[in-house]
Amino acid sequence: MQEKNTIIDISIPLSSNTVVYPGDPQIKVEVFKEWSVTTSKLSEITMGTHSGTHIDSPSHCLESGKRIEDLPLDIFVGPARVLDFSSLAEKITKEDLVNKNVKIGERILAKTRNSKEGFETWRDNFVYLDGEAADYLAFVGIKLFGIDYLSVKQKGSKDNRAHTSLLSKDIPILETIDLSKVEEGEYFLVCAPLKISGVEGARTRAILLC
Ligand SMILES: [Zn+2]
Repeated sequence: MQEKNTIIDISIPLSSNTVVYPGDPQIKVEVFKEWSVTTSKLSEITMGTHSGTHIDSPSHCLESGKRIEDLPLDIFVGPARVLDFSSLAEKITKEDLVNKNVKIGERILAKTRNSKEGFETWRDNFVYLDGEAADYLAFVGIKLFGIDYLSVKQKGSKDNRAHTSLLSKDIPILETIDLSKVEEGEYFLVCAPLKISGVEGARTRAILLC
């Protein structure tokens, strides 16, 4: 394989201060055992499966859907296209995606004003994926969808298609990626989730190579 020059880390740091979706478990990163003459240091982490930069698998919304361990790894490793939607105020619509000429088999990462506004505090008014837009991505048959906030779906909305339309087509969702330092264009994405058995979501260290 050709050697790549630049690695861009699009993961957010995980700490006891990392913001979580309202109602989700608080993240705790603590020292379990300190150094001593005879022992090594060891830390203990407590967190929800959707903490920080993570993958949603189909079983997140569908009872018989695929779990993290059921998804083939090649979904999470390969070419990806970052689309710049920074000018959008509220949501990503089908028309926005049509204008970017989204194609079958693509890994699509959406950069919105969320990346610029950061991940320090919770914001209800984050830019999300519209239900009709999610239907369109499922219809086109993309491979993976990523977005730069803690959820792909509008908070409090009864329209759950942003999750269900994608996940019912086995299209995993990569959430909470920081694209503030990434321009629109083609990259190589690596975002394999942690191999945790039976779960519907898992932390990943997401990176882009260019
Ligand atoms: Zn999630």
